[in-house]
Amino acid sequence: MPDRLHPVVAEKRDTLISQAKEKGISILITDDFRTVEKQNRLYEQGRSEEGNIVTYAKGGSSYHNYGLAIDFAIQLENGHVIWDLQYDGNENGHSDWMEVVDLAKNLGFEWGGDWESFKDYPHLQIDFGLSIRELQWGKRP
Ligand SMILES: [Zn+2]
Repeated sequence: MPDRLHPVVAEKRDTLISQAKEKGISILITDDFRTVEKQNRLYEQGRSEEGNIVTYAKGGSSYHNYGLAIDFAIQLENGHVIWDLQYDGNENGHSDWMEVVDLAKNLGFEWGGDWESFKDYPHLQIDFGLSIRELQWGKRP
């Protein structure tokens, strides 16, 4: 299994951060590479453990486990981190969140907010054309 973010994804993450900054939006990467163990713990949240369900993926079935996904949030000047899809901190009439999503898509990321079933709004991934099943079989980008 990989043990870090894929270098191409890491580079695009850095580009996304700087492009957002140019628009007056400060983003925080709240999660990137995740071990299978950590994924399994996260999966139990809202199931056998307290809290809200945050993932439908068990260990080994999330792109985070292969270093191909990041999660972001918006950081305010006072340091607070928000997950508000409407917030327009740069006051240009567009939601900051969706501006970041548009930048990310232009960089080649797929957005979890576009998913049909479980909408994962902070989630961005690059799958290099590989399905989770192929990654589980050992294929690597
Ligand atoms: Zn994610």
